[in-house]
Amino acid sequence: MPGRIAGRTLLDPRSLGDALKMLRDEGPLTPMAGCTDLYVALNFATLKETRFLNLWRLEALRTIELRGNLLCVGAMATHTDVVRSPLVRRRIPMLAAASSEVGGAQIQNRGTLGGNIANASPAGDTLPVLAAADATVVLTSTAGTRRVAFSAFYTGYRATVRRPDELITSVEIPVLRGRQSFRKVGTRAAQAISKVVMAARFEPGRGSAPAVVRIAFGSVAPTVVRATRTEATLAAGHALDVALGVLAEEMTPIDDIRSTALYRRRVAANLLMQFWKGREV
Ligand SMILES: Cc1cc2nc3c(=O)[nH]c(=O)nc-3n(C[C@H](O)[C@H](O)[C@H](O)COP(=O)(O)OP(=O)(O)OC[C@H]3O[C@@H](n4cnc5c(N)ncnc54)[C@H](O)[C@@H]3O)c2cc1C
Repeated sequence: MPGRIAGRTLLDPRSLGDALKMLRDEGPLTPMAGCTDLYVALNFATLKETRFLNLWRLEALRTIELRGNLLCVGAMATHTDVVRSPLVRRRIPMLAAASSEVGGAQIQNRGTLGGNIANASPAGDTLPVLAAADATVVLTSTAGTRRVAFSAFYTGYRATVRRPDELITSVEIPVLRGRQSFRKVGTRAAQAISKVVMAARFEPGRGSAPAVVRIAFGSVAPTVVRATRTEATLAAGHALDVALGVLAEEMTPIDDIRSTALYRRRVAANLLMQFWKGREV
């Protein structure tokens, strides 16, 4: 039986400042963005929280803009906003690709980047992209703003470093050069939770600057994971076969209802192979 809405409270701030004060003074409150994940929990009667903070009106958190060298994507930017943004498509096409594969049109119109990050599902499609992009999560409270490297944001299964008085306000993405790739493998091409997601990028070395390789996987572990030893092997110029051997050693995929560890291992190797062979195209 679906959970009940009656008996739950929704606070409706009109500005970020109001929202942060409410979080500080009237908490604990659960932030509510597009509600596409929260509503699923309500429907399955697993939503325990009773007091919510509506972020939907906070237009200031929806902007996508350049600040200096950084691309700043507001937490309330929806997946549709992300897909339509010329800045995102130019600077980080793998993020536009990931958002374009989140659910269907309705989910993309409501679901937000901040919600995808905060929900901390191992299958969140944008998470491997942000890991591969060396992104930074911007967290804000009435006490100020702090920046956390995306690779340090998750502390375990569905656990993050965000404090209850903080909101994710944006994500900052540095300048990325070279080839980027996003691949999602699931039961169907659309509307399916992934079995393996990979985001990767390759920036050839320039002068004394070494090559940069980033490879991140989703849906294979309790949190998004970077294949750091495989990255280092490829960046050092070793052959793909050597890197595939390293990937096989460092990757210990989960076995679950959606797929087996063996399948995930093979798919991950195939995705890496395709990416690496196509990197100069
Ligand atoms: C039919 C369907 C298909 C889906 N398909 C996909 C898919 O293919 N890929 C995928 O990755 N996801 C998918 N999802 C999950 C969901 O749509 C995404 O995770 C979406 O980005 C969540 O964003 P939201 O704004 O709706 O989050 P909400 O549901 O509003 O919030 C999710 C969580 O994040 C917290 N939160 C939200 N915003 C903030 C913030 N700014 N600061 C702090 N905490 C915050 C909330 O408290 C809550 O815990 C699907 C969901 C449905 C219902």
